[in-house]
Amino acid sequence: MIYDTLIVGSGSAGNILAARLTEDPTRQLLLLEAGPDYLTRESLPADIRLGYGTPSGIIAQSHDWGYTGLASQMRDDMPVPRGRVVGGSSAVNAQIFLRGIPEDFAAWAKLGNDRWSFDRVLPYYCKLENDHDFGWAEHHGCEGPIGVRRYPEEEWGPDQRAWAEACRQAGFPECPDANKPGSTGIGPFPLNNIAGVRQSTAVTYLAQARRRPNLRVLANCTTRRVLLENGRAVGVEVAREGRSEQYYAEETVLCAGAIGTPQIMMLSGIGPAPQLEEVGVGVYHHLPGVGGNLRDHPTVNLNWELLFEPTGLFHWHQAGLRYTAQGSDVTNDMIVYIAAVPENWGDSGSFLFVRPTVNLAVGAGELRLRSNSIGDQPFLNYRYYEEQFDRERQREAIRLCTELIEEHPAFRGIRGSVLEGPEDALHDDTALDRWILANADTGHHTSSTCKMGLPSDPLAVADQSGRVFGIEGLRIVDASLMPDSVRANINATVMMMAEKIAAEIAGEN
Ligand SMILES: Cc1cc2nc3c(=O)[nH]c(=O)nc-3n(C[C@H](O)[C@H](O)[C@H](O)COP(=O)(O)OP(=O)(O)OC[C@H]3O[C@@H](n4cnc5c(N)ncnc54)[C@H](O)[C@@H]3O)c2cc1C
Repeated sequence: MIYDTLIVGSGSAGNILAARLTEDPTRQLLLLEAGPDYLTRESLPADIRLGYGTPSGIIAQSHDWGYTGLASQMRDDMPVPRGRVVGGSSAVNAQIFLRGIPEDFAAWAKLGNDRWSFDRVLPYYCKLENDHDFGWAEHHGCEGPIGVRRYPEEEWGPDQRAWAEACRQAGFPECPDANKPGSTGIGPFPLNNIAGVRQSTAVTYLAQARRRPNLRVLANCTTRRVLLENGRAVGVEVAREGRSEQYYAEETVLCAGAIGTPQIMMLSGIGPAPQLEEVGVGVYHHLPGVGGNLRDHPTVNLNWELLFEPTGLFHWHQAGLRYTAQGSDVTNDMIVYIAAVPENWGDSGSFLFVRPTVNLAVGAGELRLRSNSIGDQPFLNYRYYEEQFDRERQREAIRLCTELIEEHPAFRGIRGSVLEGPEDALHDDTALDRWILANADTGHHTSSTCKMGLPSDPLAVADQSGRVFGIEGLRIVDASLMPDSVRANINATVMMMAEKIAAEIAGEN
């Protein structure tokens, strides 16, 4: 059988695309996923269903690709979790549901993506959400599949309340709706978790579309490469139940995420020719940008002893801070997360966990193949904090967080002594830079490894609709397509991109 559309990867983007495109009953669609499938909410394991609560904050190994990356020249063993399950990383993430800000999309447009300006993406951010708090507002939606809510302040944990009080007294503005264009400061984070259930694209979009006779979902099915004939993608080769199988379609769409998609592209012979030759992959189409421009939100972890034991459900990130670094002209270029981690969460006892994060880094890294097999993880070289501007902003953020947490009276009875932090290095720029490089960590927002842009941009891999340059019938729709990161956790933006490109394929815009 030749499907109309074949989608690889049922994550944030893949499930939305599959659900929207099968609204047309004449389109036959095949959705392939490497991880397992859970057909009902009741059958979801706790780590996928709850999101928060109990020790299930940790992703089960069976739902994680288990990548590791090189964070900096001083840290080479950084875990990089990624969802390997129907729902993808939307089924394992922390559910902070922040949109990119208008300035992000002005930058995307400036890079040659004029159909991605803020006024053109806003309708799709609205379409995908059901915002329980602000759904009525002009810049929000109340009919989309993804439920979003904020914790009212009276429900916040003591650590979250102390953080908000300290931030307010330091002069940061109140931010009741962080998804309102122009907003900044301290306030509740919008979260896509309703009644303790993580609103992944599996339990929302895909659940609504599953029964359609024109949609076939195949889980536990790993795509090895795209099949190419006469400059055209005709389908994929997969490994399934120990066998090699081939599936065919008029159009193949890679939604395997910012690590999986460039890996599949390169294993198919589409990528930087010298790198492919190095690992014994025959070059089909030299496309130098594949795997380049690896973006993330670099961060570090500051931990203190916790003087109270969190009770009930484990809710972190109820309140958060966004601000613009001193002297920076990049609005909202910093974000701080805070959480009281309970004793039963891991094996290190309870602790107060603070992550000051660069929300739009200058630096970029790269992804390269290690071998010609899908079974070998690609080499992820993040190169965090190589740029001075990134280090400067991170230093300032560490000092700010340390001062607020150690000196503000609101934290009395909440935090004890430092468990992880720069300590004496805090006041010396060179020593603090060394600490930052040695402790650099992923913000979990890997993106931009197959960026869209103009054909004249030597590093662009696809056009503004995700169509891969030089190959017919092959499209990319996921985090890898972002030309740069946005100043927000990227899940909502990946979902918006899938909604927008689905509408375009359906001829709606
Ligand atoms: C621990 C963690 C916490 C996070 N927290 C947040 C947060 O709070 N807020 C936020 O906005 N973002 C968060 N993110 C990031 C966000 O979830 C991801 O950026 C987003 O889900 C990426 O969407 P995607 O569609 O590009 O990829 P994914 O959702 O990862 O989907 C890719 C899918 O493709 C499948 N796949 C890959 N390779 C193959 C192959 N060869 N064959 C078949 N299938 C394949 C994968 O198994 C996966 O299901 C977090 C991520 C992680 C890992």
